[in-house]
Amino acid sequence: MAKKTTSSGKKTKHVYLFGKGKTDGNGSMKPLLGGKGAGLAEMCRIRLPVPPGFTITTEVCTYYYDHKRTYPSDLKAQMQAGLASIEMQTGKKFGDVRNPLLVSVRSGARDSMPGMMDTILNLGLNDQTVEALAKKTGNPRFAWDCYRRFVQMYGDVVLGVQKRPDEDHEPFETVIHALKHERYHKDIDDTKLTPADLKELVVRFKALVKDRAGKEFPGSPWDQLMGAVGAVFGSWMNDRAIVYRRKYNIPSEWGTAVNVQAMVYGNTGDRSGSGVAFTRNPANGAKEFYGEFLINAQGEDVVAGVRTPEPVAQLKNHMAKAYAELERIRQTLEKHFKDVQDFEFTIEDETVYMLQTRNGKRTAMAALKFSMDMFREKLIDWKTAVMRNPADQLDQLLAPVFDAAEAGKAKAIATGLPAGPGAASGQIYLNAERAVAAADRKEQVLLVRVETSPEDLRGMIAAEGILTARGGVSSHAALVARQMGKVCVCGASALEVDYQARTVRVDGKTYKEGDWLSIDGTAGKVFPGRLKTASSEIIAGLIEGDESAKKTEKFKSFQQLMKWCDDATRMSVRTNADTPEQTKNAIAFGAVGIGLCRTEHMFFEGDRIDAMREMILAETVEARKAALAKLLPYQRDDFAGIFRALNGYPATIRFLDPPLHEFLPHTSEQQKDLAKKLGISAERIHARVEQLHEFNPMLGFRGCRLGIDFPEISEMQARAVFEAAAIVQKEGLKVRPEIMIPLVGFKKELDLQLEVVHRVAREVQAEQKVKLSYMVGTMIEVPRGALTADEIAQSAEFFSFGTNDLTQTGLGMSRDDSGSFLPHYAELEIVKRNPFATIDTTGVGQLVEIAVKKGRGVKKELKLGICGEHGGDPSSIQFFEQVGLDYVSASPFRVPVARLAAAQAALSKDR
Ligand code: PEP
Ligand code: MG
Repeated sequence: MAKKTTSSGKKTKHVYLFGKGKTDGNGSMKPLLGGKGAGLAEMCRIRLPVPPGFTITTEVCTYYYDHKRTYPSDLKAQMQAGLASIEMQTGKKFGDVRNPLLVSVRSGARDSMPGMMDTILNLGLNDQTVEALAKKTGNPRFAWDCYRRFVQMYGDVVLGVQKRPDEDHEPFETVIHALKHERYHKDIDDTKLTPADLKELVVRFKALVKDRAGKEFPGSPWDQLMGAVGAVFGSWMNDRAIVYRRKYNIPSEWGTAVNVQAMVYGNTGDRSGSGVAFTRNPANGAKEFYGEFLINAQGEDVVAGVRTPEPVAQLKNHMAKAYAELERIRQTLEKHFKDVQDFEFTIEDETVYMLQTRNGKRTAMAALKFSMDMFREKLIDWKTAVMRNPADQLDQLLAPVFDAAEAGKAKAIATGLPAGPGAASGQIYLNAERAVAAADRKEQVLLVRVETSPEDLRGMIAAEGILTARGGVSSHAALVARQMGKVCVCGASALEVDYQARTVRVDGKTYKEGDWLSIDGTAGKVFPGRLKTASSEIIAGLIEGDESAKKTEKFKSFQQLMKWCDDATRMSVRTNADTPEQTKNAIAFGAVGIGLCRTEHMFFEGDRIDAMREMILAETVEARKAALAKLLPYQRDDFAGIFRALNGYPATIRFLDPPLHEFLPHTSEQQKDLAKKLGISAERIHARVEQLHEFNPMLGFRGCRLGIDFPEISEMQARAVFEAAAIVQKEGLKVRPEIMIPLVGFKKELDLQLEVVHRVAREVQAEQKVKLSYMVGTMIEVPRGALTADEIAQSAEFFSFGTNDLTQTGLGMSRDDSGSFLPHYAELEIVKRNPFATIDTTGVGQLVEIAVKKGRGVKKELKLGICGEHGGDPSSIQFFEQVGLDYVSASPFRVPVARLAAAQAALSKDR
């Protein structure tokens, strides 16, 4: 909650000025001024041409929601002072009938949320000031164009005149359409509308507002301004902003700032324009000026994707001086911010103005290239280069591309802009709702739209790829796709998208919803049908041993990044692998051991399940031992294969853990089948299955409880491990087994299992005449285990946190059933993130911290790792670094992500 006064009694500053004269803020003040406000202030500080303005802080947004949508009492006075400062710098006056000041009102959250919130341009126009503007500029067309845009935007955003469910088009667009047809009998370009047409549009727009909103369009500039500020704050809680925040984990309490800034005009004629540019290419990372502009247009025309803009390089041919100035700005921005900037500019009568700058959103591929290039250019050091690669995006680099042979043969049916790299095939759907429904049915979906708008966000999230017929590389579709790492082709103008018929016509053929198309977001091509995809260069080079892939820049950069990660990291990264194949993959990705081998997975293969079932159904120790004897050779071979694949790296092997019912035949068919194999009656099997039934198996007969009740199971597993170790050690390889006892809550549980393991180790070493080096430790995955970690550490040589079960038992929330209520919990923000994906630091995290402290209190050198799914999650990895674990363990394909996240966690601790 914003305080009225600070503790020193000084008034809280709600309004921060920026401009040529006094600039209150700077680039580091994003939490208070939002990204846009902080960027504007910083640009003023480095003397880039920024129209003057002021930022209303995010604290006012928080106040607004905490106080029934009202403002702090002194906001008005501070805003008036802000306006006075703009007036002084521009020589114009707000509401003046000779030289009126017009302003833009824009939202600006801490992190940018493209297209999610509202913007209003040309504010301050009314029936009098429009005449003054026309006179002053000698350009009535321009003045009336501004006015009709303003009434339209304000009517939509502030007064809520929007498309009704029964309407196909925006109501203002319908009015424009009608006027064009009345007067010209056809569709004409907006730029062809005369001042008289525009004047008439303003009249009709106001009538529309009166009709729909039930009130007159406000004429007083001050009322307009307060209405717009309220609408921007209000838009923080609109539906699409909420969806967006949820996806990107942006807390609602951050709030948005509001920027009020003197207008500059890109729509005064052919010597003006608006554009969006990146200092380098954000799709593939190339060092080239990248972006686009529209002549004679205001900013929103560029991002809305309604007119397809020209590449920024073409600006040279239209306005050489302005282009040169933009080039200078491009260099200045990179030198100052030392990162790729995404900026908006307006050219008014050949003078360039900057309206925004921020670190450009980028694909993983571009992030990698930027970081390598900027390191070589000495703009950043290697540690910064590591930090510049978002860990949660890294797996984009591992995403498939189209199989080269197939793509070579396939004929593209349309070409568009390569807006989001990668390859995607999917069944086409033309609206977000149906795309989501299809994805829910497990279809692979390609969302096809004429152009996308923020309303399509849900559909974009659900789709494999996005294809649009209109819009440029900075259109909404392209921005959002890039950020989500979605494959995207936009502006494929050959597509005729018919929303009514739900068809896409292209290249002489009609595709219905549900038909397959494929898109190549790296080349910007559209193909018919479903194309086969191929591995990315990194997978091809690392896993498939493809030599030509190893020569690519992408592969080499990736390897360089991973090497830097090794230099930076404190924690090591292991993998969760149950087969030699998975182990090999993980090692190729840089894992340095197995953090969790779930031995039960081995029992599902081939005939083993029969022996396993025989073991479970056995009613005597002898019968159980006989069945276990059948399993022993399988396990031994598996372990030997894994030890060989590890080539000296350690393997944490967990003994049998799941509730036994998971292995049993449940249908009468399966039971009959098994009965036949085992030569017993189906009734006996049925009875034993019933006997083993548990109401709450996850809290039942599982984990170390199995080995305690049936020590012969642990005995067989220990024998398999040690015999395999002996075999592989005799082959000349180093073997480092680490036996792990699951679900321990009492020291005695571990002690009982230790007796078995050590006894078998002695036996095997004597039989095989070898000396094996091994460790025995435990999982910490129930709260009692964490709370009594000091006792358990007396017996354990290592701990591995099973955060899946620790979350399940710590939260008392079934990991298998939480899907039915967790999404609602996330909506209500009871949980900020899914606790099974990202560790609940305040709750479950405390259990981890307690166990670390108590464990190390007893054994200073106690080895600590984590093998739950959180081991591959970047923000959880950050937490594990903070509590001082020695390693994290992740699934093989998450290993690079975990290495990067671990390195970043170590680096951010240093900083
Ligand atoms: C865990 O509980 O975190 C764990 C790794 O074990 P599992 O997922 O096999 O229960
Ligand atoms: Mg577990």
